[in-house]
Amino acid sequence: MVYFVGAGPGAPDLITVRGQRLIEQADVIIYAGSLVNPELLQAAKAGCQIHNSAFMTLEEVIAVMTAAEQENKVCVRLHTGDPSIYGAIREQMDELQKRGIPYESCPGVSSMFGAAAALNLEYTLPGVSQTVIISRTAGRTPVPERESIRQLAAHQSTMVLFLSAGQMEALAEELIGGGYPPETPAAIVYKASWPEEKTFLCRIDNLAETARANKITKTALVIVGNVLQGAGQRSKLYDPTFSTEFRAAAEPEQQADKMMSQNAALASFTQEGTQLAQGIADYMEQEGWDCRVWSTHKGREGGHEVIPLQVGLQDWAGKRFADSRALVFVGASGIAVRAIAPFVKDKLTDPAVLVVDEAAKHVIPLLSGHVGGANRLAKDLSDHLGADPVLTTATDVRGRFAVDTFAAENGLVLTDRVKAKKISADILAGQEIGISGPEGWLGKEDLPHLIRQTEEADAARILIDWRQPQENEKALCLIPEKSVWIGIGCKKGTSEKALEEAFEEFLQSHRIDPRAVAGLASISLKKEEKGLLALAEKRQLSLRFYEAEQLEGLAGDFSESAFVREQTGTSNVCERAACLAAWRSGERDSAAWRSREQDSEAREARDLLIVKKEKADGITLAAALAYRRLKFE
Ligand code: SAH
Repeated sequence: MVYFVGAGPGAPDLITVRGQRLIEQADVIIYAGSLVNPELLQAAKAGCQIHNSAFMTLEEVIAVMTAAEQENKVCVRLHTGDPSIYGAIREQMDELQKRGIPYESCPGVSSMFGAAAALNLEYTLPGVSQTVIISRTAGRTPVPERESIRQLAAHQSTMVLFLSAGQMEALAEELIGGGYPPETPAAIVYKASWPEEKTFLCRIDNLAETARANKITKTALVIVGNVLQGAGQRSKLYDPTFSTEFRAAAEPEQQADKMMSQNAALASFTQEGTQLAQGIADYMEQEGWDCRVWSTHKGREGGHEVIPLQVGLQDWAGKRFADSRALVFVGASGIAVRAIAPFVKDKLTDPAVLVVDEAAKHVIPLLSGHVGGANRLAKDLSDHLGADPVLTTATDVRGRFAVDTFAAENGLVLTDRVKAKKISADILAGQEIGISGPEGWLGKEDLPHLIRQTEEADAARILIDWRQPQENEKALCLIPEKSVWIGIGCKKGTSEKALEEAFEEFLQSHRIDPRAVAGLASISLKKEEKGLLALAEKRQLSLRFYEAEQLEGLAGDFSESAFVREQTGTSNVCERAACLAAWRSGERDSAAWRSREQDSEAREARDLLIVKKEKADGITLAAALAYRRLKFE
């Protein structure tokens, strides 16, 4: 007998009771390895034969089923979600039928319901839509023309799209072409019900951008329709712990957000360990972290709050991988390694993971030592506890410059990990490396061993620049995140579309990398300008407005316009606003600037201009770069 069983969307406890029993009884299980949570297989009995269909053809699957049947075994074919939705079960059933092998289906919770749960969404909201269309974009499997997205979109009902995350642009175009207004709410739900679940609320017209910025290309559903209006979840696009390409700058008014991005989770398993964890949390909070402590024990009265550790440690670790920047285990490193093992993916995105032994003798940065900051945190914690930091990364043990740490500590986006690795290897081998950056950002006296500043960009192996890297760039480009301010002026009533096009064109023609952009700056007169506000909102950019006198107060050779002065009270909006915003958000008191004998805001700000005023269709744009003094350890 073959049972087609729905495994549910991901969380192992979202399988049906019947499905679970079938897994327990199975002699043979064939599971869809690309999407089914392997944790479900733990319920299989000892000696159960397990096959991953991700590596099998239909013929091989049928051969396994046939062999099982010949031995009178129970065979479970485990499909993600519900088997009836894009499960390719019919072709298997046809083959079984031909061979006279009996089969039965056991339903499951489809990912479309997992996704609705993640959003607290009702698909069929009275007065909004009473129909759900389930479809997909055509891929290798064609979709009949009369069911094209464009045709289905005419109904403007709720729509759930499977298997389409890799084709967002085409999808959005079809949805809009078919009848949905571009601003119709949309959602992307990635890995619904898995620990790494992510949800993004957006609009149809920025679906593609949202997916791109958050690197969503698969295992996601797209939901569109007005039922999403006011959907329960806060959009992760606005969640500061989640980095998007256009994330807003963390300036003073966003301090609260910044704190959230510094989430740390601590776990401990003994009474002593819990007290130590409480102490570590108190210390880390002084350093700007936001800490939560979990434990199987109570901890010290009056100390940091302790949350009871009730779920399995792996479940805990999975959740913390998704919501924390740092995990600190107080206890044995083996416990930590086992807990985090399934979630370890990438040294550029994994959180910092540290282990502190119960007697506070050693602090071990286990994971993400460089970009994730585990080494830095281990050194700080060791200083605080009087412990030894147990560092194992080659550049650290040999006291050499590590470009990935340097990038992480200075807010520079590392654009190419292969080049970064090669640079670290060359430095370890004793080779000298040229570095180049914006004027005044690198202090000669700070440069570490083997790092040499070079003026000719050609000779540089590390190039710090706000420009988008060229295709054939040889150097490793490090992009200073959120450092370029775009000054913008426009006629009253300029549309969002016109502003966006001009903004886009401006970035492209000057190769300004979107990751380098901090925000938009303008004159207070434009505070209510709808198009401008909409553009900032859409791109998640900070907005700064200045009074005419503040702008006029800057001295320097800005482009002058008598007409603009008459209208606004300053001779130039975009250049001055960009410079003022850049000056205010950048560092100012460095020796490099003082040595130029420029002490006032008025003088310093003008030197920050990197692109002079450009004008098109009543929109003026300019760009300025906030100053930073890069730190080497
Ligand atoms: N039978 C499955 C769908 C299989 S097709 C079900 O009922 O859910 C595979 C597609 O399902 C993926 O490309 C993705 O669009 C979607 N999918 C599967 N699991 C998902 C999950 N946990 N979260 C979001 N989408 C998921």
